[in-house]
Amino acid sequence: MMPNQIVGVGILIAILGLGGYLASQQVLTEKVETLNVTSPLKTKAPEKDKKEMSTHYNKLTAFEASVILDKGTERPNTGEYNDTVESGVYVCRQCNAKLYRSNDKFEAHCGWPSFDDEIAGAVKRKIDADGYRVEILCNNCDGHLGHVFEGEQKTEKNIRHCVNSVSLRFFPEGTEPPEMIVLTK
Ligand SMILES: [Zn+2]
Repeated sequence: MMPNQIVGVGILIAILGLGGYLASQQVLTEKVETLNVTSPLKTKAPEKDKKEMSTHYNKLTAFEASVILDKGTERPNTGEYNDTVESGVYVCRQCNAKLYRSNDKFEAHCGWPSFDDEIAGAVKRKIDADGYRVEILCNNCDGHLGHVFEGEQKTEKNIRHCVNSVSLRFFPEGTEPPEMIVLTK
């Protein structure tokens, strides 16, 4: 090899090395940028989901509002409390009113949390817009909970409150739910 060839190869190696170094730096920079982009988005996402409503009650995500305010229904077997069996109390997600006790929850195999009793006075009933089902609502804030069915012979009480998980918030025994929010008029 001639000396000038050796120098040429040396330069080539140096260029390749620099290229590799720059490429790795770029990857690192991209990674850092990706991290910087995703973390604030993750923390801001719930804010984006929020919907206009009274500021007095708990703020709701778009999905919570679509069920609680617009009387929607979550897809069967998707609710977070569908299979919950722990002892505790279920409160209204919008106003914290105590609605159901875990003792009254039973497995109805219908895809939604089911209760055969309510906490006295906490739930009101109304003929559904469809004209035949009975809608259940939070007695304090009128938040939509689901529907109540009678005469199915699923439990001794013969009642099934079919409730959307997203209308509820569960507080295990030993934890205290926040105060029920009552609007001043
Ligand atoms: Zn409520």
